[in-house]
Amino acid sequence: DPVLELSGLEKVYKRGEPGEVAVLRGAGVTVGPGEVVALVAPSGAGKSTLLHIAGLLDTPDTGEVKIAGDRMDGLSDRKRTRVRRQQVGFVYQFHHLLPEFSALENIVLPQLADGVSRSKADARAQDLLARVGLSGRVDHRPSALSGGEQQRVAFCRALANGPKLLLADEPTGNLDPGTSDVVFDALMELVRETGMGALIATHNLELAARMDRTVRLEEGRIV
Ligand code: ADP
Ligand code: ADP
Repeated sequence: DPVLELSGLEKVYKRGEPGEVAVLRGAGVTVGPGEVVALVAPSGAGKSTLLHIAGLLDTPDTGEVKIAGDRMDGLSDRKRTRVRRQQVGFVYQFHHLLPEFSALENIVLPQLADGVSRSKADARAQDLLARVGLSGRVDHRPSALSGGEQQRVAFCRALANGPKLLLADEPTGNLDPGTSDVVFDALMELVRETGMGALIATHNLELAARMDRTVRLEEGRIV
C-alpha cells in the first residue's frame, strides 16, 4: 500500500464570507513506501493546508485521506490522534523542542510515550543524533543549541517512533548548505532502510531534484 494517498481534496476558507479562498480544488498525491516526494508550491498556494490535512491536523471539505492503506475520514478524534502519533512524523519550521529537556531526552520522550523501553529509546536517539552529526550535543538543552542544531534535533524527534510517513515543511530551511546535505543524506538513508515514505515541501529546487519525484501545487491542484 502507498503510505499516503490524498485524492480529490477540496478546502475553502471563509466559505460564504468576504475573503473566501478556495485553497485546494481537487488536489491529490500519492507517496509510496521508500519514496521521497518533493512538494513545490508558490507561497500562499496551500502547501501548509495540504500538509496539515495529510498529517491529520486538519480535515478537507471533501476528498479522501488514506494513510498506509486505511481511510482516515470518519475516524474519531482519538483514533486520528493515535494514527498521527504512531504513523506520522512532522518536521515543521517552527519546531517546539521541550526547553527543559536535553536533545537526547527530546527524542527519547516520544518513544517512552509509545511504550518503548528507556534503553532502546536511548539507543535509537543516539543513533539518530549521530546520523545528523550531533553526537557531541546529546546533553545540550535547546537553548544551548544553534537554530540549525535545534532543527536537526526536531528532525530526529520526528523520526523517533519510526513513522511510516514523514511530512516536512522546509526541513532544511535554516541550515547552511553543508549541514543541509548531511540532513538530506540522513533522510534518504533512513527512507531506504525503513521503507518510510516522505512528502517534503521545499522551495529549494536543487534539493527537490535530488528527491525521487517532484509534484507542484498550483491553483489548488497538483500538476
Ligand atoms: P502556503 O503554505 O502554501 O503558503 P497556506 O496553506 O498556509 O499556504 O494558505 C493558503 C491560503 O489560504 C492563503 O491565502 C492563506 O491566507 C489562506 N488561509 C490559510 N489558513 C487560513 C485560515 N485558517 N482562514 C482563512 N484563510 C486561510
Ligand atoms: P503529542 O501530544 O504527543 O505531542 P500531538 O497529537 O499533539 O502529539 O501531535 C503529534 C504531532 O503533531 C507532533 O509532532 C506535533 O508537533 C504535531 N502537531 C500537533 N499540532 C500541530 C499543529 N497545530 N501544527 C503543527 N504540528 C502540530
